[in-house]
Amino acid sequence: MIQDIYPRIFSNKYEKKKAKPKDLFLSYNGDTVLVREDKDKLWYPSFSDFEKDYPNLINNAQFLFTIDDINYYLANENGLDSAEGWTYVSTGRFRTEIKYWRSFAGAVGWQLNRWYGNHHYCSKCGKPMRLSEKERMLYCESCGFQAYPTISPCVIVAVHNGDKLLLTKYAGRGTNRYALIAGFAEIGESLEQTVHREVEEEVGLKVKNLRFYKSQPWPFTDTLLAGFYAELDGDDTITLEEEELALGVWLNREDIPPADLNISLTGEMMEMFRTKAVEL
Ligand SMILES: [Zn+2]
Repeated sequence: MIQDIYPRIFSNKYEKKKAKPKDLFLSYNGDTVLVREDKDKLWYPSFSDFEKDYPNLINNAQFLFTIDDINYYLANENGLDSAEGWTYVSTGRFRTEIKYWRSFAGAVGWQLNRWYGNHHYCSKCGKPMRLSEKERMLYCESCGFQAYPTISPCVIVAVHNGDKLLLTKYAGRGTNRYALIAGFAEIGESLEQTVHREVEEEVGLKVKNLRFYKSQPWPFTDTLLAGFYAELDGDDTITLEEEELALGVWLNREDIPPADLNISLTGEMMEMFRTKAVEL
């Protein structure tokens, strides 16, 4: 999965440290990220690449995290893509780029970029928010309100019935990929209750014998995914929630298309079922 970057080590330990010229920075413009493309790979800029034309970039940078001994910062100024070789490309590339550790860095940075960008002002009293020196937190000096990065819990459910797996396709998205049942935990709910509710809402089925599989940080949607296998309980007739889903279908193992193990929990769970690598 995208977060599995071993032998590289991702560290989210927060430090308020000043950037050095060799440190890398991530710069976003909406849903695009500044990169240099070389040999079909994405490369992120270091401050030294821009120090001549943008001497203040390094002083205004926000520390994000480290991967091995590489520090990543958030920095932005208008016109960075006018420098030769640098361009803004879609963050969708993080899902297809072959060097996953770099994609993971870009995706987590993008989540933090959204969080910082959405918290310039206190949501309680409206005064400007300030950066904590000690942790990844923003606070309001006026009323004491604190804000931490937004992470929403969400479930992924692989509903199975003997040798069949329930696969779906989303309505109104630019992708034709098969998906599993998925949805956000709502107020007052356990993850298990979310599983039962989402399966019933999206395909009108009942499930039993829930088995937690793995979790995955999914920075693209500020979510933390919890993957469950769940056995069909009773009638297998699918009643599709058509606003959300374009397709819901039972597929036999041999008809399930192979999925990439390197990106999403959904893909891994489908592949584990298809290859009988998970005992249910
Ligand atoms: Zn406030």
